[in-house]
Amino acid sequence: MSQVQTARGPIDSGALGRVLIHEHIFLMDTEYTFNYRPDFFEDRTIADAAARLNALKAAGYDTIIDLTVLGLGRHMPSIAKVAALTDLNIIVSTGLYTFNEVPGPFAFHGPGLMHDVPEPMIEHFVRDITEGIAGTQIKAGELKCAIDAPGLTRGVERVMRAVGQTNRITGTPITVHTAPREQTGLEVQRVLAEEGVDLEDVIVGHCGDTDDVDYLMKLADRGSILGMDRFGVDFTITTAQRVATIAEMVRRGYADRLALSHDCTCWSDFFPTVADYNRAMPNHHYLHIHQDVLPALREAGVSEADLNMMFVANPRRHFEGTAQRFAARS
Ligand SMILES: [Zn+2]
Repeated sequence: MSQVQTARGPIDSGALGRVLIHEHIFLMDTEYTFNYRPDFFEDRTIADAAARLNALKAAGYDTIIDLTVLGLGRHMPSIAKVAALTDLNIIVSTGLYTFNEVPGPFAFHGPGLMHDVPEPMIEHFVRDITEGIAGTQIKAGELKCAIDAPGLTRGVERVMRAVGQTNRITGTPITVHTAPREQTGLEVQRVLAEEGVDLEDVIVGHCGDTDDVDYLMKLADRGSILGMDRFGVDFTITTAQRVATIAEMVRRGYADRLALSHDCTCWSDFFPTVADYNRAMPNHHYLHIHQDVLPALREAGVSEADLNMMFVANPRRHFEGTAQRFAARS
């Protein structure tokens, strides 16, 4: 057992229950929101989000990891309001999401830069984990960074190393957004291992966007959990392909290395309205896995024990194992 931070305070890792490992609640460009989307600040935004999360809880899911960090519009006052209206555990994250450069506030200060100081991101991330985020009591329980098609740019590498070092300082597990077509998960494992991160502390995100089983086995063999985490995003790969790939990985003995999710959101300014979002991506909602994917996985031969491993045991191990390894070396 270990303690896991949620938006409503710490819980025991044994209470995580069924977990969706990669979701969002609000996903936006905060500057755009403040300038052009006054509707975000209407009470119904919070009420709508709580209703969707309560429906997920009612379907038998207990926890989501909300991977909305800097660069994706993290807005903790809104998360706090939603958390007060739902019994679903919301694990919030710290880190930074960029595919290229670091944002302006980090461009000129940091190691070797114009204002030559120790990496300021680490101080931010550690404070989010140990003290709370943006003046709230809410502490981050997960670290997050990204590497996409542009690969290991200067900015991406800087963030990834800061995330790795924060894992070493705090014992917080990591999720990384990756681009499986470019096999960037391998780069993630190389860089984080160089920072001393145990690769079992890591979820390699968006692995479900490929059906390249050899690539997936390579990542899994180094101990990381693979995020099969974009169910409902139907334009990169079909749901049938996503299901078949999981079934094949399970058949090859990798059920203990897989975790499922949607990467969806209650609100996103990627579309002008929530209705537009729902029209454009009709399956991209919190209940898609429960309603459509589970029957397909069972049909493909995945057992209840395998499903329990992927939804309960693996996420629990992600937090517990990381905490235990941290305790053992401190
Ligand atoms: Zn995401």
